Amino acid sequence: MTDLVAFRRDLHRHPEVGSHVPRTAAALAGALEAAGWRVTRGVGGHGILASLGTGAGPLLRADMDALPITEATGLPYASEVPGAFHGCGHDGHTAMLLGAAEALAADPPPHAVHLMGQPAEEQGTGAQAMIADGLFERVAVTRAWGLHCWPGAPVGALSTRAGPMMAHEDNFEIVVEGVGGHASQPHLQADAMVAGAAIVAALQTVVARTCDPADFAVLSVTGFETDGARNVVPSRVAITGDARGYSDAVRDVVRAASRRVAQGVAASHGCEATVAWDQSFVPLVNDADSVAMATEALDLDADQPRVGGAEDFAHVLARVPGAFLFLGNGTEGPGALPLHNPGFVFDDRAVPHGVVALTTLARLG
Ligand SMILES: [Zn+2]
Ligand SMILES: [Zn+2]
Repeated sequence: MTDLVAFRRDLHRHPEVGSHVPRTAAALAGALEAAGWRVTRGVGGHGILASLGTGAGPLLRADMDALPITEATGLPYASEVPGAFHGCGHDGHTAMLLGAAEALAADPPPHAVHLMGQPAEEQGTGAQAMIADGLFERVAVTRAWGLHCWPGAPVGALSTRAGPMMAHEDNFEIVVEGVGGHASQPHLQADAMVAGAAIVAALQTVVARTCDPADFAVLSVTGFETDGARNVVPSRVAITGDARGYSDAVRDVVRAASRRVAQGVAASHGCEATVAWDQSFVPLVNDADSVAMATEALDLDADQPRVGGAEDFAHVLARVPGAFLFLGNGTEGPGALPLHNPGFVFDDRAVPHGVVALTTLARLG
């Protein structure tokens, strides 16, 4: 049996960001093979697919990627890669997947079990890449299960909910085109800066005035760039931002209202606006039957409130039934800091809890 804490801390020292996770994928694949799993490398890039037994069975999933930020934990096993940090606990998820794999290999269930180690969760592209490379054609999946460490909950506490649990993420760019010029001659211009500022303010009405108050939605403007200079009124402004909700219907309402507001406000300033949207994450929706099965099998709080974060395991759950669970990472200290905080510390005491949860779910068939 692998020392899972040592395995996790080795991944932590050597974080890999995005879709390029060769070292992490090799470590997982090698350990799975040593435990007796049939491993396919290179699925959708550096993705790992592994099977125990043949035929249909449940799929357990872990994400393997780190964040492009600098660690500030001061830990003895801190990242040795400048500007890369396992600040979302994916090193822990990978170790727990391996632990479950070893437990299942030691006492195999009567049906097949499949494992998915995916890159690029943070970008929202890793699961889709593996699906596009035939994940569901390569293995027959009955249900899919995944978990994520969860700061603020007691170490090892499990929670989930039936239905939508995590948000979709929709990214927009609004480009405002006007007529720029000398800062002393506003009467000869159509000021894209002023139009853009008015659009930012008007976008605050989109959720408040067009979404059903019973639905959750949030729209945040996160970037504002101009081609102006000290004495130059800009001709062009690019406004970027992020909108979230739990359904395609909310997404469509927010898109339509934002377009109407941006184009209308721009026109009122003599400018033109174009609006482009790109959906990076779909909503994560847990299957009610799967949540009921998990609640029966595990000590689990099935009333986890919905959260506004996004998670690309949602692409898997959009195709097969299953559920995503949160695993408590502590209520105080660095384990309770928000995910993605430079000081966040994954709590190794959660590992055995995660292993038991994944193993138990895999045995449900
Ligand atoms: Zn994250
Ligand atoms: Zn994460």
